[in-house]
Amino acid sequence: MTEPGAARLLEGGPIAEEIRTAVAEDVARFRATHGRPPALRVVIVGKDAPSTVYLERILRGCAKVGIDGGFVELEGAATEAAVTDAVRALNDDPAVDGVIVQMPLPPTIRLRSVIDAIDPDKDIDGIHPLNAGLLRLGYDGFLPATAHAAVEILRRSGVEIAGQDAVVIGRSAVVGMPAAFLLVKEDATVTVCHSRTRDLAGHVRRADIVVVAAGRPGLVTGEMLKPGAVVVDVGINVVDGHIVGDVDFATASTVASAITPVPGGVGPLTNAILLTHLIRAAERQAPRRAPTATPDRPVLSGGDR
Ligand code: NAP
Repeated sequence: MTEPGAARLLEGGPIAEEIRTAVAEDVARFRATHGRPPALRVVIVGKDAPSTVYLERILRGCAKVGIDGGFVELEGAATEAAVTDAVRALNDDPAVDGVIVQMPLPPTIRLRSVIDAIDPDKDIDGIHPLNAGLLRLGYDGFLPATAHAAVEILRRSGVEIAGQDAVVIGRSAVVGMPAAFLLVKEDATVTVCHSRTRDLAGHVRRADIVVVAAGRPGLVTGEMLKPGAVVVDVGINVVDGHIVGDVDFATASTVASAITPVPGGVGPLTNAILLTHLIRAAERQAPRRAPTATPDRPVLSGGDR
């Protein structure tokens, strides 16, 4: 860890740009070999304003690098069977390489049935139980893109992870827990905190790395931090019409040695990372579809980075 002072900003934008440049090359290579670009489809059930913004961001990201991005839209009143049928149709479509289901789903639809319907080979946001299990066992399945981005921003910014004490605040299946497993995989010593944690400040004060994914603006303040800690703020909250994270940036940035801004930190990286997962899904499935190509590799043998 470096000395405390004005924290270094860990910005996601430049890293995302680097990743997109590499992805564009991968897309061109894939297209040259297979005669089509990799294809991503987003299933969206009832378009509310935030999910439309998120969808547009994904599609714009695809267009920038030459990926065939598209969506399948179901009305808000769609049944669970209609949603799982739509997912299975994409699973069965050999021209589709990756499938994302836009969250949140309407409350009438059970999340678990939709997640279970996704083909794990096309599950580029790592939400299927098979991919969650692979991560838990330390194998390279598909990772949830946000958790992957939270750790990747540390790796690519040269932050030492091995041997460090890390605290992850939040234990959700899509962000907190996968981020914690990834940090363990990077040899950090990890504590996971949640809403029932006693003395959150005490845990945070001991941490060299703090990853915050709680959805609570201002949850972590500068006075809770160990001087020189590195802070990754995954939170996205709208307060008085502005997007803010879970960390009180004004106080935290005077104590931390490095901190991700919100917006502009983990967020921009998440979409770029998702595109790398799509390339990997496309490359992994391509041999199965083209009998003349090299034989398929088993699921456990891929490399995520
Ligand atoms: P979630 O499912 O609501 O989980 C929130 C977690 O935070 C839970 O584990 C909860 O504990 C914990 N928590 C809540 N209040 C707490 C408190 N006062 N003290 C300690 N822990 C507390 O949310 P999520 O889907 O993981 O998302 C987390 C945040 O990341 C949200 O702000 C979301 O908008 C953001 N996000 C960002 C991106 C991105 O690309 N940057 C992507 C996805 C999500 P319990 O388990 O005890 O309830």
